[in-house]
Amino acid sequence: MPRLGVCGWPVAHSRSPAMHEAAFTALALEGWSYQKLPIPPELFAETVRALPAAGFRGVNVTIPHKEAALALATAASDAAREIGAANTLTFERDGAIHADNTDAPGLTEALAAAGHDPAGRTALVLGAGGAARAAVWALVRAGADRVEVWNRTAERARELADQLGAAAVVEPSPAEIVVNCTSVGLADEDAPFKALPLQADSLGAGSCVVDMVYRDGGTRLLEAARTRGADVIDGLEILVAQGAASFERWTGRTAPRQAMRAAVGAIAST
Ligand code: NAP
Repeated sequence: MPRLGVCGWPVAHSRSPAMHEAAFTALALEGWSYQKLPIPPELFAETVRALPAAGFRGVNVTIPHKEAALALATAASDAAREIGAANTLTFERDGAIHADNTDAPGLTEALAAAGHDPAGRTALVLGAGGAARAAVWALVRAGADRVEVWNRTAERARELADQLGAAAVVEPSPAEIVVNCTSVGLADEDAPFKALPLQADSLGAGSCVVDMVYRDGGTRLLEAARTRGADVIDGLEILVAQGAASFERWTGRTAPRQAMRAAVGAIAST
């Protein structure tokens, strides 16, 4: 009975179990299960190492464990190593623990699905945490013309930009692809155009705005961008794309993205 799960602290809010359970059902993968694994940081490494013996084939990893997941792995993809964080661990039959970062290809896949190839285009990433590192890596890898990074704490943006081949900025230029990787937008009272260096009028037709944040009813940033004619990609689309990539790594099957999308309540892109 192959087991999967998501490790986090906290993890109660995660929509990943519903998404993966829907995928098992859609593909009639009997016996597979996916559960929440609330693990405090001090117990993360020893708990994860014990999971294969309990029947686990792999786990997703979320806040605050993504760097610790990479550190305990015995092998890692280029994406995980260069980003410095892993959101997917696979327990191989020979005992190896393989780390991957599917947040990065998840962003690229969601952009492609919305008709936005980053190659040769300008991009702006807001934030300098784990999500921003994955986004910058993905955009640079995909051949974006120039990737600017802005962060509330400027020093973190400089460090990230230096490591991953982007440009740290204090006043961003208008960009064709904008990716919000800050947590601004999670709270009702968040005012994205006050907290972030964005002019609502620069988010017009031809641009694409991605919000990693997701909440029921969508975020105010995406609502404003959509109103002005921009294409928008909801954080739930990124959640589905990264989850689909992890699912394919573990099961060897093509992920049933529509079933996964329906399970998390993703709204349509564009
Ligand atoms: P993180 O490492 O904690 O980084 C948080 C970022 O938000 C930092 O850059 C921080 O800036 C910035 N920030 C927080 N409050 C702010 C404010 N009031 N004004 C401006 N900037 C602010 O988190 P993360 O893992 O990168 O995740 C970022 C967001 O993306 C979270 O909301 C997370 O849920 C979401 N996410 C979604 C997916 C998905 O699948 N859709 C995947 C990963 C993450 P400072 O450096 O100045 O503190």
